[in-house]
Amino acid sequence: MKDNKKDFIREIIDKDLEEGRYKKVHTRFPPEPNGYLHIGHAKAICLNFEIAKEYGGKCNLRFDDTNPTKEEEEYVLSIKEDIRWLGYDWEEREFYASDYFEKLYEMAVELIKKGKAYVCELTPDQIREYRGTLTEPGKESPYRNRPVEENLKLFKEMRDGKHPDGSMVLRAKIDMASSNLNMRDPVMYRIIHTSHHRTGNKWCIYPTYDWAHGQSDSLEGITHSICTLEFQDHRPLYDWFIEQLGIHHPRQIEFARLNLTYTVMSKRKLLELVEGGYVKGWDDPRMPTLSGMRRRGYPPSAIRKFCNSIGVAKTESTVDIELLEHFVREELNKTAERRMAVLKPLKVVIINYPEGKTEELEAINNPENLSAGTRKIPFSKVIYIERDDFMENPVPKFYRLAPGREVRLRYAYFIRCVDVIKDKEGNIVELHCTYDPDTRGGDAPDGRKVKATLHWVSAENSFPAEVRLYEYLFTKKNPLDVPEGGDFKDNLNPNSLTVLTGCRIEPSLADAKPGMVFQFERLGYFCVDPDTKNGKLVFNRTVTLKDEWEKIKKSL
Ligand code: ATP
Ligand code: MG
Repeated sequence: MKDNKKDFIREIIDKDLEEGRYKKVHTRFPPEPNGYLHIGHAKAICLNFEIAKEYGGKCNLRFDDTNPTKEEEEYVLSIKEDIRWLGYDWEEREFYASDYFEKLYEMAVELIKKGKAYVCELTPDQIREYRGTLTEPGKESPYRNRPVEENLKLFKEMRDGKHPDGSMVLRAKIDMASSNLNMRDPVMYRIIHTSHHRTGNKWCIYPTYDWAHGQSDSLEGITHSICTLEFQDHRPLYDWFIEQLGIHHPRQIEFARLNLTYTVMSKRKLLELVEGGYVKGWDDPRMPTLSGMRRRGYPPSAIRKFCNSIGVAKTESTVDIELLEHFVREELNKTAERRMAVLKPLKVVIINYPEGKTEELEAINNPENLSAGTRKIPFSKVIYIERDDFMENPVPKFYRLAPGREVRLRYAYFIRCVDVIKDKEGNIVELHCTYDPDTRGGDAPDGRKVKATLHWVSAENSFPAEVRLYEYLFTKKNPLDVPEGGDFKDNLNPNSLTVLTGCRIEPSLADAKPGMVFQFERLGYFCVDPDTKNGKLVFNRTVTLKDEWEKIKKSL
């Protein structure tokens, strides 16, 4: 948890400003448009945009779109929508690495001219073989000492489409004996005859991420290039490129990526779930994507609070998913209006209530925010209660409705169960109850008490709805924990989705719109799903009411 002390990134920035290394702070969020954003990306987004805000600086959005085979316009659009939804604004600073292809090409030519890059015709397999290992140095390519003129000519031919995919690459000429594998003459350009979502067929050579990333940051005047730990070993390479070129030098700072329990966070694995039909799409409410969380009803402010509260660290760790849910609950408790809905209805006939009568009872929309006002709920002779709220033979500590027992109906009356009606198979099909007219509003004038308050809806004056209940997508805290030869998909939770049809909702919900979130009393928070059409309402359970985080916190 965050305390008042600044994290190590902000300490570095303070020092840089103090020592005059930079005069301002300029960060960026650099997604590759090859998938939808997930909660891990949200952490990086919050970090970069919040730091820019705190230091009166700017944060760019830059798409690192260097790989034409995996990238698509659909991803660009979704990424922009998700960042906006999260509450951040890159203003007019929307950039693409592909905008720099020409400049990057010129820089590569400059390195060739300086004798710092060469065209290599080893096959991809040979390049790997020549690279050596952590314990053995690499071997120099036979093409390493080509004359500059020849390199320039071949590189131009590569660009002009004179050579097939995989026949040659441009490599940096650094040190095949370096203890850092990234410094062993890394590839800068590959030939890929594939059209790009933005540059079309203009290019058939594409820069590698390693070649494009640092120079893109530099071109944009980024001061602090914040990235995840796996780039630590690439930093010497990025520094080398920038020093050879003599251009603006951003400071790269690495932090540990966010991992969440019961969640996988790699785009490749998420894509596998989408393409394999294990979920309904990138925005399936069980996905850790921002679009999934939006559809599920997570408020963006809760995600921001979560990301900003977990802080940044230098070592990998895994955050309990219950903490994220805690922030969601805390936010929705303040903002979501309360409604009544019955998920598994059991019919109740109030035998002493007048036939054909309907009365309107007053209900509070949000006890946490009285300015949300009140609404009317219709009450009538036939109502539904939750099947789970009745037990014919109540077990100890079950205080809800049972034969002969009296309970309170929220905002309405006390009722007492006088008869249990069953079908031929012995299934309970309805209850007969009596009500006490003197308990209207929920209190008995004679002061008698009941041990339970139930939610309910009027049978006649309620609407049908479908409700989708979610559990974690995986059964294991660490879904990647599989026996030898296993697959993370073996840990998928077969019960992650339960669809309830025939639910009943109070009439004020009839015109609820997709995206709206309500607390269904006693049940949890529920968000209207975009599948809601022509008055057929579909809800997603956002979270239940029970805060598991408080328990976990105590055990920490
Ligand atoms: P993935 O591993 O999920 O495929 P990625 O790192 O390849 O993600 P990018 O599009 O390159 O995805 O990520 C954009 C930015 O988000 C990068 O700066 C990256 O470091 C950061 N990022 C990605 N995943 C996480 C995470 N789990 N926690 C924090 N930051 C992350
Ligand atoms: Mg990446």
